[in-house]
Amino acid sequence: MSVESKLKVEIKRDAEVTMRPFMDYFRGFEKVEAVRKIFGEKTEEVLNDLRVEIAGMRAYMGVSDDDGHLLVSAHYLKTGDLLDIYLDVIHELVHVRQFSEGKELFDSDFRYIERPTEVEAYHVAVEEARRLGLNDQRICAYLRTEWMSEEDFVKLAESMNVRYDCPKPKHKKENHR
Ligand SMILES: [Zn+2]
Repeated sequence: MSVESKLKVEIKRDAEVTMRPFMDYFRGFEKVEAVRKIFGEKTEEVLNDLRVEIAGMRAYMGVSDDDGHLLVSAHYLKTGDLLDIYLDVIHELVHVRQFSEGKELFDSDFRYIERPTEVEAYHVAVEEARRLGLNDQRICAYLRTEWMSEEDFVKLAESMNVRYDCPKPKHKKENHR
C-alpha cells in the first residue's frame, strides 16, 4: 500500500489563477514615453492584452515565465511607495517584451544582477527615474532591496551609474521566482 493511498484527504489540484486586465489597475502607461520605447507601435495592443495576477503573497512583483503575465502582490500594490511601484511596472514591462521575444527571463547561468534581461530592465527604469528628476539618493533607495546582498547591490548601483548612498530598505520589492 502506497503512502499516498493512506491519506484520508482530497485535494482539488486544478486551481485556476485569477487574472485581470493590466489596464484595470494600471492606466495611462500606454502614454508614457519609456513604455512606448519598450513596445513601439505595439504599445496599445500589448498593454490591452496583458493580464495581471494580483497575488496574495506579500511584497513581490514579477513576470511569469509560463505565459508572460504580470504578477503583483496585493500588499505591495496597496502599501508600496507610488514611485517605486511606477518604476517597478516599467521594469516589469521590459520583461514582458523580453518574454514575448522568447528570451529566457530566469537564466540561471547568470547571477541576478548580471543577467542581460535584468540589466536592460534596470537600465530602462533608472533612465525613467532620471527623466523624472530623481536624484541618486532616491534612485539608490529605489534599487535597494533587502533580498539582494550588499555586494550585489554595490555592483548594481555601479553598473547603473548610481551613486551608492542610501539607507537600508524597509520592504521587499520585485522578486523573480
Ligand atoms: Zn527584473
